[in-house]
Amino acid sequence: MTREELADLIFPDIKHDIKYYEEKYPERNLKEGAIVTRYAPSPTGFTHIGNILSAFTGYSFAKNTEGVFLLRIEDTDTKRTVENGINNIIRDLKDFDITFTEGAIDEDRENGNYGPYVQSKRKEIYHAFIKELIKDGKAYPCFLSEEEVNEIRERQEKHKDRIGIYGKYAKYRDLTPDEAAIKIKNNEPYIIRFKSPGSFYKKVKCDDLVRGTLEFPENDLDIPIMKKDGLPTYHFAHLVDDHLMHTTHIIRSDEWLSSLPIHIQLFQVLGYKPPKYAHISPLLKNDNGVVRKLSKRKDPECAVSFYHEMGIPTEAVKLYLATIINSNFEEWYLQNKDKKISDFEFSFKKVSKSGALFDLEKLGNISRTYFSRLTKEEIYEQTKTYLEEFDQEFLKVFTKNPDYTKAILNIEREQKKPRKDIGKYSDVKKLIWYMFDEEFNPVYEDKDIDLELLTDYLENYYDENDDKNTWFNKIAEFGLKYNYTSVKEYKENPEKYKGHVGDICEMLRFVITSLTMTPDLYEIMHLLGKERLIKRLDNFKNK
Ligand code: GLU
Repeated sequence: MTREELADLIFPDIKHDIKYYEEKYPERNLKEGAIVTRYAPSPTGFTHIGNILSAFTGYSFAKNTEGVFLLRIEDTDTKRTVENGINNIIRDLKDFDITFTEGAIDEDRENGNYGPYVQSKRKEIYHAFIKELIKDGKAYPCFLSEEEVNEIRERQEKHKDRIGIYGKYAKYRDLTPDEAAIKIKNNEPYIIRFKSPGSFYKKVKCDDLVRGTLEFPENDLDIPIMKKDGLPTYHFAHLVDDHLMHTTHIIRSDEWLSSLPIHIQLFQVLGYKPPKYAHISPLLKNDNGVVRKLSKRKDPECAVSFYHEMGIPTEAVKLYLATIINSNFEEWYLQNKDKKISDFEFSFKKVSKSGALFDLEKLGNISRTYFSRLTKEEIYEQTKTYLEEFDQEFLKVFTKNPDYTKAILNIEREQKKPRKDIGKYSDVKKLIWYMFDEEFNPVYEDKDIDLELLTDYLENYYDENDDKNTWFNKIAEFGLKYNYTSVKEYKENPEKYKGHVGDICEMLRFVITSLTMTPDLYEIMHLLGKERLIKRLDNFKNK
């Protein structure tokens, strides 16, 4: 029996050969330098914030270069695949506005000319490639049972030998086609292994766009390429898919870095040009001084739902991720107030080699800057959406008089240095509650308040139509009546006066809001209006 006949025995019903597929999926017609990359998740039911980082990195590079960003579903590990997994992935990415030029669009549908984009639907294609490899003596059926492979591993561990099927462990590597055919006809279970031409004692150089040129021992493992269920392994599927989809850049997690020599070898053995690889380091966390990987089990911030529930805008999370991808992003963002993330030119060279700390406090800072750049309308609308889901009670108050709420949100906004106190939608209530009578039921701390002075001021001097200057000058002038002077004067002769203008403002602020710190007092008083101010003073007196 020839190898060709053996290949026919293993794959008797293959309709097409590699050439057919290469013609079906021709070179893409893109402009020079365009990056074709993909996000290739497994639909296991959980999107880790690190997945969003990988996806967003690919998205950004493709977008920067007017390239292609495709969604490929890697579901060949059927045991880990969950129901609705594809929909969940797409929903999570959409939340972050990460969209695709082609690929899966839901559980059943997809768009693009290079599909199917779901690996379990590509079985025939993989088989065509594997068949050819068997014909060429570059792959072979391996009859080692799982138990035998485990025994080999145990033996290797015991003898501190390298783990895997290579050299003397590759028992079926040199079976003749006849010997293999007898076993197959006897229904002995088998998988297909790649027949590695490598030697562990030779070194190979592999390029990584993030880490530069790395040296590895050449791969000599006969890795499985097709499992018992007829589906390919990740190693092989990525080779076929990225070849046929004309991927130029593989951006993936660095857990795959050690497989790089295998992957480069696979491309070489098939005679294909390998894509460029960029391995992204995991997100880290400083856990009481110990830096470790962000863990799905321990850290709630791993789940993308965390940001949604906390009310942190996905745009702010993206700004932070952009900073993680390229550390010079942040400075650029701070300097370019009117630019969007997509205006920034990302570079592989500036991607961190060692993994970046994912720090919620830092995210909070970036988010506050993000909020500070929103208009009152934007904050109003976005907060409203958040409240609709998470705080129906406050939603009623918040939306009762939209113009009033927007005016509150606008305090200290339209100025050179806008307020930076909102970091998440859930902060909004905590920052503006006292502006709503429905919410204003304060417990006042003990404090010395000159009630006679405040009553006189609010009833006889305060005019809600005054502009800010007039308002302030009036307080200064009024203060003299009660022996309050300017701050400067007071500092020079404190024994001569009861206090200074600032003290009056502080008392006003306290009675009106029950707080000692708020944004601009003039604006607050102006928005509340004289009548409500007097009411609040009366309430204060009664307490
Ligand atoms: N399915 C692989 C994973 O989720 C994809 C790796 C890659 O992007 O090639 O790790």
